[in-house]
Amino acid sequence: MMRWLPEEAGDRFQNAVSSLNKQTQAIYGCDLVLADYRAKVGTLNSLQEIWDALCDTEKAVSQLPHGHARDYLEAMLPGFKMIVRVMQGDAVPYDRQIADMQQVVSRVITREQMDALSASLDRDLYEMGYRQATAPEKAMAFLDDHVLAAEDVVPTTKAFLSRCQGACRAKVLPLPDGDGIDDIQGVRNVIYSGNSAYLGHYKGKLSFNIDRPWSLPTFANVLCHEGYPGHHAFYCHWDVLFQQGELPLEAAYYVKNTPTNALFEGTPENALHFLGWDDLSEDTPEIDDAQKRQFLAGRKILDLQRMYQQNGCHYVNLEGMGKDEAEAYMMSSGLFQPSEAASAYRFFTDATRRTYYPSYFYGRWLVHNAYVRFPRERRAEFFHLLYDNPHTNSTFIKAVTQALGAGFEPFETERS
Ligand SMILES: [Zn+2]
Repeated sequence: MMRWLPEEAGDRFQNAVSSLNKQTQAIYGCDLVLADYRAKVGTLNSLQEIWDALCDTEKAVSQLPHGHARDYLEAMLPGFKMIVRVMQGDAVPYDRQIADMQQVVSRVITREQMDALSASLDRDLYEMGYRQATAPEKAMAFLDDHVLAAEDVVPTTKAFLSRCQGACRAKVLPLPDGDGIDDIQGVRNVIYSGNSAYLGHYKGKLSFNIDRPWSLPTFANVLCHEGYPGHHAFYCHWDVLFQQGELPLEAAYYVKNTPTNALFEGTPENALHFLGWDDLSEDTPEIDDAQKRQFLAGRKILDLQRMYQQNGCHYVNLEGMGKDEAEAYMMSSGLFQPSEAASAYRFFTDATRRTYYPSYFYGRWLVHNAYVRFPRERRAEFFHLLYDNPHTNSTFIKAVTQALGAGFEPFETERS
């Protein structure tokens, strides 16, 4: 087994992390530790014991030589400590919470950023024959034309999944023998759009919210997000790395509200693009050009919706905006049905998800901005950096900057 810390210190940290869910279940009724490959049950039974173990870990980390392991743990420990502080009732301002949990500073996404994306979407949809006056009107007509009925969600998932899996193996990431998603569910009364649960032994379960409206171009993006090369691929791959002794004990888990989240969500947000399924210059016999144009438009619609949702999250959590005003703000985009705006509000005001929410927007652009800087012939190097190494935002930015020999704007959105 690969270790970064001396055995006793590493085991103590492992125990702290593996003990978290008992507390989060008691306080929030949910898990924050979504994957734990180390297969040892935590034995710490109070927030104080976990806190003390995290403080001991900090001391051990300060003895490590400078380098990736130390950078990673020095980024993660404030996230874990902030989780404990918030659970024990400390009134920490939201911006301080996400600074430690997500390593991001929330800023309002500007009108100029939204207009740039909207103009790009408008051009694409015009070329596809849409003549409505505005980009949102074109977008809603486009989504209407490709509606995916609730009863078609599971069959469509089954039809696409093996293609995603095959393309993932060919272009992005090897997957272990036995990898697969055995369970696909359409579910109701949930606040997420899709969910990927790791069941162990390279098996996964996908659930999709069938109360919300779907269209194939947006659904394809979400399917790659949850499946391949998104969450399920990540979960499997990390399991393999840990078994092979290539993922250290101190990083062999996935915990919500820690600084790995932006990459964990941002990679899936780029998953369909990694397959080349929205890029006419990529050779993808499994997807034709007409479908690629649709998937790209779907991606841009999701991105534009996310900008309004992320701003809604910012206004509510940092500027005191109320429910009605936040939902009206999202609806003003012309890109949501009322039920979608209501779900988004519930998501970014939920006890644990409110601080998780920024990982989608910031992660999407962080991963995108790094990916596009790598020339095509260096993609394998990029995927190795992204999938084979545990990273927080700060260590990822540092590694990409070193690999490129130049800095980049990690959270900039597309201007053209
Ligand atoms: Zn996700």
